[in-house]
Amino acid sequence: MKWVMPGRSYRWLWMALTIVLLFTFTGEAYASSSPQPKKRKPAGMSWVKMHKQFPDSFILNGSRNSKRIALTFDDAPDPRFTPQILDALASYDVCATFFIVGSRAVQHPAMVRRIHREGHIIGNHSYNHAVLSKLKPREFHTQIWRTDAIVSRIIGYHPRFVRPPYGEMLPEQVAWSRKSGYTVVNWDVDSVDWKNNPSSGIILHNIKRTLQPGSIVLQHAGGGYGQDLTGTIEALPVLISQLRKKGYKFVTLPELLNQPADKMK
Ligand SMILES: [Zn+2]
Repeated sequence: MKWVMPGRSYRWLWMALTIVLLFTFTGEAYASSSPQPKKRKPAGMSWVKMHKQFPDSFILNGSRNSKRIALTFDDAPDPRFTPQILDALASYDVCATFFIVGSRAVQHPAMVRRIHREGHIIGNHSYNHAVLSKLKPREFHTQIWRTDAIVSRIIGYHPRFVRPPYGEMLPEQVAWSRKSGYTVVNWDVDSVDWKNNPSSGIILHNIKRTLQPGSIVLQHAGGGYGQDLTGTIEALPVLISQLRKKGYKFVTLPELLNQPADKMK
């Protein structure tokens, strides 16, 4: 088809454009009110390639040489699930890393303070769970900076670790993150606890299937409307005791990656 079209076709083009824009804005408004952990297909470069290009600032796992693993929890704080996850971790004396959504931290600062007080590490998970790869540079920077400012006011340090919602980030965004002192951390083990409210059995299976020394495990401590993380909470005691029996040690991201949690250090 030719690019130059007669008048009548323009009308269709504008209609189509309007519909696309309408969906885009509705989607954004929804995302800002409730993070949706539904995973997307990665845009652009593969994670493995990105790690090769940015070995210290786009990370999927730690050293494979020792039996240490890091549990990570996204989309916190959420009063429905985060306290129960903290209770479970505390009773097993495990410290983990929580990726915080800025707009949620504004609503529940006491919960962010509790995560920090109980020895867990805090990371940046954007301001309103935006698909960062779709944003203009300034919008992208604002997502990171705004969350950094909110979180640092609550816990007293500027989180170094950034996890993009859906794991999606463009190479130029990783380059900016590195230049700005951030480390982007995705995962090599997905518990898939975000999909269809799975039972603890399914979650345990998903984790053990791909876990190895140095793994970074993706779980959630918060969810969107209608999401239930009971499976995640119930899986924790079993997961921790079984992996400890196999000789695994649970560490935070700064320990696993040998990088400070505070980006100013
Ligand atoms: Zn998320």
